[in-house]
Amino acid sequence: MPAVSFQNVSKTYQSARGTFKALDGVSFDIEPGEFFGLLGPNGAGKTTLISILAGLTQPSGGKVTVNGHDVQADYPSARRQLGVVPQELVFDPFFNVRETLRLQSGYFGIRHNDAWIDELLEGLGLADKAQANMRQLSGGMKRRVLVAQALVHRPPVIVLDEPTAGVDVELRQTLWQFVSRLNREGSTVLLTTHYLEEAEALCGRIAMLKQGRVVALEKTSELLRRA
Ligand code: ADP
Ligand code: ADP
Repeated sequence: MPAVSFQNVSKTYQSARGTFKALDGVSFDIEPGEFFGLLGPNGAGKTTLISILAGLTQPSGGKVTVNGHDVQADYPSARRQLGVVPQELVFDPFFNVRETLRLQSGYFGIRHNDAWIDELLEGLGLADKAQANMRQLSGGMKRRVLVAQALVHRPPVIVLDEPTAGVDVELRQTLWQFVSRLNREGSTVLLTTHYLEEAEALCGRIAMLKQGRVVALEKTSELLRRA
């Protein structure tokens, strides 16, 4: 069974100026344990596809499953399979880092696992910030907490939407080291980016999205050979 399956997914946005097809019959599967890249220029539809996968946007047509769970028909089951790192920083400023992560466990209806939280803090370079209040953290540190928060329920599928846009080199390195480790340990990773170099370095396969359609899908080595 694929870890993620997009089946003929389409999305049409309605606006005053008419309708706009952001996704047009997108179909592909991501196998368990893959580090998969979704590449495409701005406006290609990457964020729309991720948002549909995360259950935040309704598709106009098609079907998406995560480890066999249908995102539309059984959202709670599908959502538990996913660790989605959002682009926006939204936190309660009155909690410290550890409390923030424990709280997030509660949202998933699981008891917090402090050993795992410690591993997340360690892996993301937050070990000495566990007691720091969210409002005292720099933007970069908050971003690390955002990643930890997305992974607190140990999701088998990790989704990163342009995670390094505007992020400094050190954080980028930490993030890639940690996510690569989780991938080696069995997690499936879906990364969207508009940087080919980033996808090249990390992803085993890459899908190219253009104007809402998959225009190429192949092993990174094949893509590079032809480039
Ligand atoms: P990407 O992440 O690849 O940059 P997006 O999924 O954000 O692409 O956007 C794809 C297209 O859909 C863009 O042309 C964008 O302007 C349009 N779009 C995205 N969200 C909306 C919306 N809520 N309403 C109308 N158009 C939208
Ligand atoms: P632009 O809007 O010019 O493309 P960026 O994508 O670099 O600019 O983002 C501007 C700021 O927003 C950055 O300093 C960063 O903190 C934040 N930001 C926006 N999206 C992301 C993301 N996916 N990951 C990290 N930071 C982001």
